[in-house]
Amino acid sequence: MSSRGASLRIPVAELRRRPGNRSTVERTVPIGGLAVGTASTPADAMADVRLDLESQHDGVTVRGRVRAPWIGECRRCLEPTGGELEAEFAEVFSDHPDGAELLAFDGDAVDLTDSVRDAVVLGLPLAPLCRSDCSGPEPGAFPVRVEGTADPGRVDPRWAALDELRFDPDSPDG
Ligand SMILES: [Zn+2]
Repeated sequence: MSSRGASLRIPVAELRRRPGNRSTVERTVPIGGLAVGTASTPADAMADVRLDLESQHDGVTVRGRVRAPWIGECRRCLEPTGGELEAEFAEVFSDHPDGAELLAFDGDAVDLTDSVRDAVVLGLPLAPLCRSDCSGPEPGAFPVRVEGTADPGRVDPRWAALDELRFDPDSPDG
């Protein structure tokens, strides 16, 4: 039964009949739950994947491009933000895989599942911004007492509680 476009395991038996054969495959696959820092792909996220495959004498090269939505927290104003990431990758599948750069075929197919996930993780923003010129929290967004701190009656009660915890038993003078 065909699961149209849902798998990143791409059959290549036909492609491999002749070196130099090329094909382009497009897939839309679930990509939810990947995260780096505060940035992640939403649980129900779908990634658009384009794969350009080329048959070689002893393998298949794949150039991939993936686009996926992400959500996160702006590093300056801490508001929720998000966008679309775009990442590219390249893989070489070989009849003689080396466990590193030359990947193994999966039967008569190449499996790009891990490649796409890795590309999306690398494409997530390490320090998200809601917009490039975000200047941080709106004034007044957080209650910060700057002026009037000399007045003990205006000390934030949370800090006052911390003051009460501060003592030094070796210094009776306080
Ligand atoms: Zn912001």
